[in-house]
Amino acid sequence: MIKIALAGNPNCGKTMLFNALTDSNQYVGNWAGVTVEAKEGRLKDEKDVIVADLPGIYSLSPYTPEEVVARNYLVNEEPDVILNIIDGTNLERNLYLTTQLCEIGIPVVMAINMIDLVKKNGDIINLEEISEHFGCVCFEISALKGTGVKKCAKKAVELARTNKGIPPIHHSFDDRVESAIHFISAMLPDGTDMLHKRYYATKIFERDRLVSDNFPDCESIIKDVEKYYDDDSESIIADQRYKYITSCIDECRTKSGKTPISEKIDAVVTNKYLSLPIFVLIMFGVYYLSVTTLGSYLSDLITQKLFGAEGLALLADNFLTSINCAPWLTSLITDGIIGGVGAVLSFVPQIIVLFIFLSFLEDCGYMSRIAFIMDRLFRKFGLSGKSFIPILVGTGCGVPGIMSSRTIENVNERRMTIITTTFIPCGAKLPVISLIASSLFGGAWWVAPSAYFTGIASIIISGIILKKTRIFSGDVSPFVMELPSYHMPTLKSVFRATWDRSWSYVKKAGTIIFLASCAVWFLSNFGFYDGKFGMVQYMDNSVLAYIGNFVHIIFSPLGFGTWQASVATLLGLVAKEEIVGVFGVLYGNISEGFNALSGYSFLVFNLLCAPCVAAMGAIRREMNSPKWTLFAIGYQCFFAYCVSLCIYQLGLLFVSGDFAISTIFAFLIIAALIFMLIRKPYNNRKITKR
Ligand code: GDP
Ligand code: MG
Repeated sequence: MIKIALAGNPNCGKTMLFNALTDSNQYVGNWAGVTVEAKEGRLKDEKDVIVADLPGIYSLSPYTPEEVVARNYLVNEEPDVILNIIDGTNLERNLYLTTQLCEIGIPVVMAINMIDLVKKNGDIINLEEISEHFGCVCFEISALKGTGVKKCAKKAVELARTNKGIPPIHHSFDDRVESAIHFISAMLPDGTDMLHKRYYATKIFERDRLVSDNFPDCESIIKDVEKYYDDDSESIIADQRYKYITSCIDECRTKSGKTPISEKIDAVVTNKYLSLPIFVLIMFGVYYLSVTTLGSYLSDLITQKLFGAEGLALLADNFLTSINCAPWLTSLITDGIIGGVGAVLSFVPQIIVLFIFLSFLEDCGYMSRIAFIMDRLFRKFGLSGKSFIPILVGTGCGVPGIMSSRTIENVNERRMTIITTTFIPCGAKLPVISLIASSLFGGAWWVAPSAYFTGIASIIISGIILKKTRIFSGDVSPFVMELPSYHMPTLKSVFRATWDRSWSYVKKAGTIIFLASCAVWFLSNFGFYDGKFGMVQYMDNSVLAYIGNFVHIIFSPLGFGTWQASVATLLGLVAKEEIVGVFGVLYGNISEGFNALSGYSFLVFNLLCAPCVAAMGAIRREMNSPKWTLFAIGYQCFFAYCVSLCIYQLGLLFVSGDFAISTIFAFLIIAALIFMLIRKPYNNRKITKR
């Protein structure tokens, strides 16, 4: 077996190359921190070659958990060859890692990626020069367009097959540092793999916390060098690496001197005043188009006809009646399965349209700008823009969104991000939004976008409130983000991302939603009546109504205290689209159970409360603590409850002048909220007290 490890900076195209090489379909996102675990796959056409996609790293001195994953893989798993992917539009930063990869003692193949963009900018990269300076073979590739990919993989396999001995290292440090490293490596115990001796010696010199604990003898050597340069050893090494890169980069690359198109676009899109309005407009457009106009037009055209009362259900009903099928079975098939699963499937066109837009925005590079723009806004409230990446990922599905919080080193910020990520409407919540917008608001233009912005507002408000508490107080960590160059996504990549997400939606409809629909049908048609268990004529006597009646009182102040809405909310915890499924089974039309105000309150509650079990599982894994998991879920439910209560009670007050005890609660909540928002942060409070 031969192992090829793909290593490179975040967002240089590793996963895209991995997908091309192995024919897999891993998530490609246009920002750092998408891949948080090592993924292995088999190279196409070569049975005995394994390719590993690693999380992005800037150096071999890791700071975040996923960087540790990548480094451990490279050093401990001993791949036969490292394929170093380099973003050709950013050679300086990417080559810094290359100098370190070459030291590990494993053959390196360099692949200068994004060559399409380099060429568009008019720059020229001299491959021979790079090969010479770094001592490894070097290729130009475009993972996006597929150019050069095969040739490069072939060379890597060839190198792995023929490899014998340690490849020579071409760059070196100053004499003083070199001799220190030499000394240290002589002190290493004999058992140390020769392959890695220089690597370990350099790490010990840098006082790497994951390596150097066991080598106190080297301190005096390191101290001498530090004294000479009047700097700490880690900076000395970093400085000399950069010096080396700058010394050779002019020979390796000729710049055209044109302003890259990306910079021109960014001048407008990330402009201080225009950036937020543009973002709001774009997201407004996306939700408006996918839910209200284009998406609903397509679903009216295709799926509503298919799954509506006149479609499949009628056909099945006629057919089953004609063959004298038992009435209960007819009802199970038409009301239960077609009603429930069909209700969920009828939103597939909307889901597809939404994901096409989101994939496009993400892939072209716009979404990365959002994290950057949001950082400027967030910073004012003591939050970091880093928290926004998981939220952007979460617009597809909350599970990978929560997982990508791993890139946040600061534990408080990470927890806060995990708590708030699922406030953003994910794909599965879209049907709920769409159903409410079309059935209760006559497809009003503002309902769907308002759901998205309610999510964002909740994240910001929660962020501010939590940040001011003692537990979450502290400095905001800096947010450094490389903005990728804009590029026109290929049809293939947009299609692939859209297909992937939509297909998992359809799959869920065929499995979880199918089972849940059967269960809902059964529980809503059977119950105790006259002391006997059996099919009931009125759903109000069913087991489901019985269960719903237990909890519905909790939701009364929010305006949807019916057993149907309670059951839908509970089953929404299984999967959010099941809310639509439940209504499909229980109602002919949901306006039987809601008016516009209670419907909106219901929508907001279900958008903000605890997410589905899959996402709750992700929260538990990432929090790695039962206490914090409970806190997160508790906070989400509590927050959702407060917001919905205010919406419903104040809505009632304004619309019909109703004033009740709950109205007072609503005002109290708002007062408390304002207090939490404007009070001083914990740190400042302490200072004033003293
Ligand atoms: P990773 O973080 O290194 O795994 O990077 P990804 O594979 O997720 O890709 C990051 C972004 O770079 C995506 O938006 C890709 O579409 C884009 N990308 C990858 N390879 C190329 C390329 O050769 N040319 C261009 N223009 N874009 C690319
Ligand atoms: Mg990746």
